[in-house]
Amino acid sequence: MTTIALTAIFVLLFTGSLLLSAALLRIGLILVRAENIRWPADLTIVLIAAVINAILAFATVAVSSFGSSVELVAAVIQLICAVAVPCVLIRKLYRVTFPRAFCSWLPTLLCPILFIPFSVYILGPYVMESFSAPTSSMAPTLVGPHVRAKCPVCGARAFMAPPDRRMGTSIYPRYAICETHFHTSIPQSNDAVVQPADRFMTLKLLRPKRWDVITFRLPFAPEQIYVKRLVGLPGEKIVIKDGGVWANDERLEPPAELKGLQYLSEIEEVDFTLSGTERRPAYLLGDEYFVLGDFSQHSADARFWTAGAPGHHSYAVPEDHLLGVVTHIYWPPSRWRILK
Ligand SMILES: [Zn+2]
Repeated sequence: MTTIALTAIFVLLFTGSLLLSAALLRIGLILVRAENIRWPADLTIVLIAAVINAILAFATVAVSSFGSSVELVAAVIQLICAVAVPCVLIRKLYRVTFPRAFCSWLPTLLCPILFIPFSVYILGPYVMESFSAPTSSMAPTLVGPHVRAKCPVCGARAFMAPPDRRMGTSIYPRYAICETHFHTSIPQSNDAVVQPADRFMTLKLLRPKRWDVITFRLPFAPEQIYVKRLVGLPGEKIVIKDGGVWANDERLEPPAELKGLQYLSEIEEVDFTLSGTERRPAYLLGDEYFVLGDFSQHSADARFWTAGAPGHHSYAVPEDHLLGVVTHIYWPPSRWRILK
């Protein structure tokens, strides 16, 4: 369902930008006094230009892992094609000189500029937004920059922090979490190649439900955006016990895809009492939520927070700090998946 919604949004945006570009091109063609101006030709030009641009943008992202110089060359090629391709098409279809074709294309450059306010004030805040995972506190569901290892328990692929980075609150980047059973372990070795972080889409139109992966503003530093799993709802008493989450003294049953996930109420390297545990339960107010990371050993989640939003518990995410529900991982292609 979310895939259909996102596809519909993209089709609408693409169609809207095509029509706007065609209208701007028409203005350009009138200004250079081109003859026999016609909508089908204008739409063909902007459509072909948009498709080639999209393919080149995709290629630029794909080669970005080969280094910044390769990415720069790809970006320059993309820029040249973005101007050259439509100019050649205009020249051919309207029989104008190359400088006139270039001048008639210039107004279409306003399209992204006109799109910015729409993106900043409507699309981003109310419809959807894309993020990348900075850490692997939500691994294996979402991974930040990471190295891969073999789970010593089941042999499946496991994720762990690169040697020079730290995941979550742990000071020791030595644990890995396996992809299939959430086994947390210390592998003997890893492949040492730093893999890119997941990029994912957040849909703002959905109301977050329990077990959804959500984005939200960090209560004590709202300029920072975090991604965690929603486990506690307003009005509940939340306790992590025996590897699970208990709401109002009843153990919650996570969805099947989280089978094996163990939430920790104590961390070896941490010497203070965590929130949401038997010794310090989280009592949520009517507009407060409780969030945890899937990689419980390495997640700086609500258990650790010592300061909260004004008027709220330190461990709570107030309702007005929620941003949206993570629906798709779209990059890299090998990590593509639908979460909701
Ligand atoms: Zn395993």
